[in-house]
Amino acid sequence: MSTERMPNGIHTIDTHYLGRPEFAAVYLLIDDQRAAFFDNNTNAAVPRLLAELEARGLHPDQVEYLIVTHVHLDHAGGTSALARACPNATVLAHPRAAPHIIDPSKLVASASAVYGAAEFERIYGHIEAVDSDRVRVMEDEQTLCFGSRELRFLHTRGHANHHFCIADSGSGAIVTGDAFGLVYPALQRAGTFAFPSTSPTDFEPELARQSVQRLVDEQASCLYPTHFGAVTDIATAAGQLLRHLDFAERLRDVAEASDLPDEELEGYCRVRLYDYFTGLLDALGNLGGAREVWSLIKLDIDLNAQGIAFAANKRRRKARVN
Ligand SMILES: [Zn+2]
Repeated sequence: MSTERMPNGIHTIDTHYLGRPEFAAVYLLIDDQRAAFFDNNTNAAVPRLLAELEARGLHPDQVEYLIVTHVHLDHAGGTSALARACPNATVLAHPRAAPHIIDPSKLVASASAVYGAAEFERIYGHIEAVDSDRVRVMEDEQTLCFGSRELRFLHTRGHANHHFCIADSGSGAIVTGDAFGLVYPALQRAGTFAFPSTSPTDFEPELARQSVQRLVDEQASCLYPTHFGAVTDIATAAGQLLRHLDFAERLRDVAEASDLPDEELEGYCRVRLYDYFTGLLDALGNLGGAREVWSLIKLDIDLNAQGIAFAANKRRRKARVN
């Protein structure tokens, strides 16, 4: 559903992350001449965010909050640049996320190790520290006034242990980051199609299911996942996410119990995930070109396989210690 048809104050901004349309969103909430950004993607997205603000007749001075659902870099990579551009804004973050915004060195080091320094620089640029007096921690169920609205913060683990969602009293909607899966618009042509992000390094299926259920229980008017755009058929999407998380949990357990060496679990999980997605997509019928669909989800399937294998190896390590 577009924000035009439902004028609830939440605007969807396409960041064109990695050059791909409708891949990663940033949400802009405007109330009574004040603004808040939910996530900020990367440094490269910041000019788009400021242009959207200007198009809505607001100045960067009027941005009150920069809210980050969690510190994965497609959500919080632009925080320092956006904070510099919006001098009156306070960053709101999960208690486990805030330290990485104040001192991003560990975050940068671990992502650089994954991508390589040159590729990291190309995608994410330079991420700076944000002064601690501009960062505020939001606890579970804590609330905050924003214009005529109240924002309520819901800690939601499973995808990442530094993740929260934000319920907006003005629209009845919840911004869900990565806690309510991925719903790319190109995959919704044959009906609702949601799948979870089980990427490394915090994936815990039991907690991810609890978070999905908590979001359902909120009975929101709609949910806003970062990837990508409003979800109104919450029940159908939740059913798909819960079934998929059950599958991911079984896959983690089978991988853990297998006699494969640790380093082979990722390949093992990847093959089984590809089979699983083939079944899901076959059941949906023609989505407008199989090659296009696979190109949209390949990166996520690979990341999800890594996350499930990482979780299986974590449990093996724990078992060896005990
Ligand atoms: Zn994430």
